Amino acid sequence: MAFTTSHMLPWLTGATALASLTGCTTKQVQQPVRPNIVYIMTDDHTAQMMSCYDRRYVSTPNLDRIAADGVRFTQSFVANSLSGPSRACILTGKHSCANRFFDNTTCVFDTTQLTYPKLLRKAGYQTAAIGKWHLESLPSGFDFWKIVPGQGDYYNPSFILQTGDTVRQEGYLTNLITDEAIDWMEHRRNPDQPFCLLIHHKAQHRNWMADTCHLALYEDQEFPLPENFFDDYEGRPAAEAAEMRIARDMDLIYDLKMYQENRQSRLRPNYEAFVGRMNKEQRAAWDAFYRPIAEEFYRSNLQGKELAQWKFNRYMRDYAKTLRSLDENVGRVLDYLEEHNLLDNTLVVYTSDQGFYMGEHGWFDKRFMYEESMHTPLIMRLPKGYEAKGDINELVQNIDFGPTFLDLAGVQVPEEMHGVSLLPLLRGEHPKDWRKALYYHFYEYPAEHMVKRHYGVRGQRYKLIHFYNDIDVWELYDLQEDPTEMHNIYGQPGTEEITAALMKELKRLQRQYNDTEALATMPE
Ligand code: CA
Repeated sequence: MAFTTSHMLPWLTGATALASLTGCTTKQVQQPVRPNIVYIMTDDHTAQMMSCYDRRYVSTPNLDRIAADGVRFTQSFVANSLSGPSRACILTGKHSCANRFFDNTTCVFDTTQLTYPKLLRKAGYQTAAIGKWHLESLPSGFDFWKIVPGQGDYYNPSFILQTGDTVRQEGYLTNLITDEAIDWMEHRRNPDQPFCLLIHHKAQHRNWMADTCHLALYEDQEFPLPENFFDDYEGRPAAEAAEMRIARDMDLIYDLKMYQENRQSRLRPNYEAFVGRMNKEQRAAWDAFYRPIAEEFYRSNLQGKELAQWKFNRYMRDYAKTLRSLDENVGRVLDYLEEHNLLDNTLVVYTSDQGFYMGEHGWFDKRFMYEESMHTPLIMRLPKGYEAKGDINELVQNIDFGPTFLDLAGVQVPEEMHGVSLLPLLRGEHPKDWRKALYYHFYEYPAEHMVKRHYGVRGQRYKLIHFYNDIDVWELYDLQEDPTEMHNIYGQPGTEEITAALMKELKRLQRQYNDTEALATMPE
């Protein structure tokens, strides 16, 4: 047994250590003493749409249970705000420049790399991954996996099995992923081993197709526009060039479901493929809900700001409806752990592959190093013995997740990983030498949404960004004075000192992470 070998002894309790030495086999001593890890990650879910972070828009009672019983990270960020790259950073504990999964369009994840699930498995953890994968290659380092191809489908989705077969299952994806995760905990795992279960949802990804039972929710709610919804992008040419404006770029049919037989749009075929997967009952409920809204919409012929506000509200409503399933299914997982007495010995993590714009700067989508999309929600319920409670305000990044899980399992964190273990923070400590700045690098350009390549450094108060490739623009933000990042103060008198300090820190991080491509575009 892996956890009776001598190097595991530090994680055995006194009673269990004694029992293993005396060969006692009562039920009590067979309990694994290393904590389990249940890692729930969603796609494009953002803190603005979580009531434990932000009470303006929605209520997420089950997500809030995790934060209320555990910790909420207030300064949690990603290294590259895009699905595949973020997932690669998490698995490897390294920035994109080292794991070489730069973007969703040209990369295939190299599965020969060192990942935290491989190391946990080697150390005696049972590992499983269920749901969205999105790394082009198949999962490696898991006892069990079952994933959706590519982005997956909300309705009656296909799954790729470990056998290589693809099966289509009837139902709504958020429910099906949770069913499978609970089934694995109940029937497939070995209860004598600690486990690490990755539950990866497609929700909240575009195009926000809610379960039919939730379609009627939020229809009476008017969502207030963010203050900077009608942003003019002055002094920020990369922001102006991006094609992710709710008013201009959101597709009436694909995104907002305003389908009529005689109407066309760029993404209508994608929409037809999605609703084409529905069975008769699902499609009838779907059409009964959206058709009258579409009829009213085309009849009213909204224009200008009125149209923009209408689009924003439809977007918010669909996102919130889709979120209801997610919150309920997180509740199911928590209930299962509680009912099976697993909560005390399990680290429950809830996060997203990155944040998202809910109308800030007039946008949907992510990619930018600006706050809403570089930030990612991160809440944890801690196993017994970890005393932190409430808010953790230190700067943390998704490259830290792997090192944290390894540290929790008593596995040495490989030096090649860029991230650091968060366990000191989970013990309630505030190390004085904790990092003061984070590195970020986004590559996917030219591509969907046309967000230009950029890298930068985010400190506790200031952020420096360099947009490069077909542009050469620097941006500097004072997050204390300008939290919504509307005023690029790069080059303004009085900012020389802070700019020089951030530039130095940026170079230091690029050297530390060996981002040679970025270094080549830096000024002397
Ligand atoms: Ca995503």
